Amino acid sequence: MRWEGLRDGGDDGGALFERAEVSAPRELGTGGAGLAAPPAGAIRAGDDGDAVAVEIRARSIINQMPASSGLPFQWTVNPYRGCSHACVYCFARRSHEYLDLDSGRDFDTKIMVKVNAGELLRKELAHPRWGGEPIAMGTNTDPYQRAEGRYRLMPEIITALRDFANPFSILTKGRLILRDISLIEQAAQVTDVSLAVSVGFLDEALWRSAEPGTPRPQSRLDVIRGFAHRGIECSVLMAPILPGLTDTPERIEETVAAIADSGASSVTPIVLHLRPGAREWYLAWLAREYPKLVPRYRDLYQRGAYVPKSYQDAVNAMVKEAARRYGLLGPGTDSDGHRNSRARRKREKSDTARPHTSEQPMLL
Ligand code: SF4
Repeated sequence: MRWEGLRDGGDDGGALFERAEVSAPRELGTGGAGLAAPPAGAIRAGDDGDAVAVEIRARSIINQMPASSGLPFQWTVNPYRGCSHACVYCFARRSHEYLDLDSGRDFDTKIMVKVNAGELLRKELAHPRWGGEPIAMGTNTDPYQRAEGRYRLMPEIITALRDFANPFSILTKGRLILRDISLIEQAAQVTDVSLAVSVGFLDEALWRSAEPGTPRPQSRLDVIRGFAHRGIECSVLMAPILPGLTDTPERIEETVAAIADSGASSVTPIVLHLRPGAREWYLAWLAREYPKLVPRYRDLYQRGAYVPKSYQDAVNAMVKEAARRYGLLGPGTDSDGHRNSRARRKREKSDTARPHTSEQPMLL
């Protein structure tokens, strides 16, 4: 297995990362965040057991997205691989297969922790070739998943971005982001910072089943309230909207109303897409929990990962109409259609703005 070399006593040849050499004791949070140390023996794909954190030392931390990705950002930082939030629809599941682990339960329970992420980021930001482009986080795995409570990688990362006035965005479902609110505030004084929380629906039974490792939806809305209370904009990715489960006018109405009530700056709907990796895992869950919906999904996703445009347009129109009624505007715009980040206004005022913006990633 390619990543076995990461572990103590392993042969590092061909490993994706070097095993961490943590020379000084790290400042760790209390408790293990529900994660155990990896067992002494080999970890094999498909092994069922406790969730484990495997500490690794990354060789680089700023990743460039391939031009073919079609995503609205080019550079990402992901301090973790795998995600204990365990959403059944997670598009990132397939990335675990590159570690010779599986995209199902292994993705949820075998979490790679890049313990040198902050230190490495600082080095890369200082490199003469780095151009200060916006960096997106939360685009592959959630940086505020459970492990972050113990490893505290994000404070180091945000501090480095603040010190280099490098624009960035964070997308998360984790409440833990509120721990770093002061740092985020400091960063927003010197650069563009874009925050988004993902809330696709409110139904608690569905949440327990489909997003079992995440904070409950109401709790995520409280994160937005926490930011709004401090005058920091936070948008919502209403994602994913699940066909047959969360796409009715009533469900959309109640979700948009709650998002508006939380003080979110905008809402962006994204209908579920099912790429390989996520597709098998999600459809197995659907067959188990909602077997009657299987034929509908077969029909909707018969042509690949995305629903037909007509369906997507209908959902978008419902969300847009509800958002209009509840006074929610498009991402990053004010009533005149201008971007309105607080950091941007400050920087424009002082005439020191750099020519970059940190667009919020739109995934899921
Ligand atoms: S929180 Fe995001 S990255 Fe984590 S499992 Fe859910 S969808 Fe995937």
